[in-house]
Amino acid sequence: MLLDIAPRKKSSKLTALTTAVALAIAPMHAALAQEQKGPPILRDTEAEQLLRDYTRPILRTAGLEKQNIQIVILNEGGFNAFVADGRRIFVNYGAMMQSESPNQIIGVLAHETGHLAGGHLAKLREQLAQAQTQMIIAMLLGAGAMVAGARGGNSNSGLANAGAAAIAGPQEMIRRTLISYQRQQEENADRAGVKFLTATGQSPKGMYETFKRFTNDSLFAARGADPYLQSHPMPSERVAALEELARSSAYWEKKDDPALQLRHDMVRAKISGFMERQDTVYRRYPLSNDSMPARYARAITTYLHGDLRSAVAQIDGLIQLQPNNPYFYELRGQALMEGGKPAEAIAPLRKAVQLSNNAPLIEMLLGQALVAADNKAHTDEAIAILRAAVARETEAPIGYTQLAMAYGRKGDFAQADLASAQAAFLRGDNKTARDLASRAKTRFAVGTPGWVKADDIVSAKPLPGQKNN
Ligand SMILES: [Zn+2]
Repeated sequence: MLLDIAPRKKSSKLTALTTAVALAIAPMHAALAQEQKGPPILRDTEAEQLLRDYTRPILRTAGLEKQNIQIVILNEGGFNAFVADGRRIFVNYGAMMQSESPNQIIGVLAHETGHLAGGHLAKLREQLAQAQTQMIIAMLLGAGAMVAGARGGNSNSGLANAGAAAIAGPQEMIRRTLISYQRQQEENADRAGVKFLTATGQSPKGMYETFKRFTNDSLFAARGADPYLQSHPMPSERVAALEELARSSAYWEKKDDPALQLRHDMVRAKISGFMERQDTVYRRYPLSNDSMPARYARAITTYLHGDLRSAVAQIDGLIQLQPNNPYFYELRGQALMEGGKPAEAIAPLRKAVQLSNNAPLIEMLLGQALVAADNKAHTDEAIAILRAAVARETEAPIGYTQLAMAYGRKGDFAQADLASAQAAFLRGDNKTARDLASRAKTRFAVGTPGWVKADDIVSAKPLPGQKNN
């Protein structure tokens, strides 16, 4: 598992929408504001693969399989899932942790796909544009009334107050219109979600269970902690309508496949091991629990908290249980590398790359180990692997960071500067990216592929909402 910085391209379309929505719908704003401040994204091949497997059949039945819709895991512990730009479904790791079965999170993904398929974001944007026009007119009228009041010589007069009311009144009206519009979209997404689940032979029970937890009058709602509730008003009528619809499904009682449930439990254990405090991990997965997920979570928290030997022994135990699980070798390699033994990390990471069919994020770890092992014999291999990885995984800066180090070791400073510039660009650090790319340009011959790439970065314009620094 890698902690990575939010790719720079993400926030472009959002900024304008966030600002517009902030005027009108506070709850929606809460979900989007998270994105605006650019929270780190969790990158993990195992978790991403599982979520892709959850989503693929739903996207296909929704007619969206060609749109290359990505699932992005956000480093946020509260429950949330939302669509923001028509191309990505964002899921907090907290939503995975709080979903006890695949079916529960699949239900949420089906609902979000309902928003995507319905083009709800674009429609909401239109509504907002209309609302803003109405609001501007209302404010002009209100301002006129206030001016009239002030001219009357008494700023506390009834007329001035009427002006204030004229501003508040239409805004409240518009807010209510938008909220009712948003509720309509939520109901539509519920219905679409159930339809997709039925078409793929899956139960809508998990979706109902999850949404029922968030009903407005539930304890959950009273606690008000989870952003999902703010972006998804859950009046009891909506949940009742969903229950009626869901219970009519022929698949209502259908259970999750045990193999899928195990993968789900493994990913939750991994998230717990990486994200939660050690005492929390042990409370959730006490030593008395000998299941594979419990052993996975404990092995991870053991390596993170410094006992490398014990962690490697625990991971070896897991490898004995599933000798072809690429993620156990990935973990073994990551633990050894971060424990200061990069040369020993190489073999397990090679195995992980092979067993995962060359998953690019795992290739980046292998490249990192090859670079960190500080053995010149590995440098060319590291460069070849990292180049292949960044070609297929275009949003993870770590691939370019490692590539820069490998080129630096070879004394190829033009390529090293270019790779460092690309890493900075992906982190959203435009100034560093431009400076490094400018330097790279002076080191390449004019017109060569490296020069052209560096030139692209030098002349790239910062996206709206992104600071030009
Ligand atoms: Zn929704």
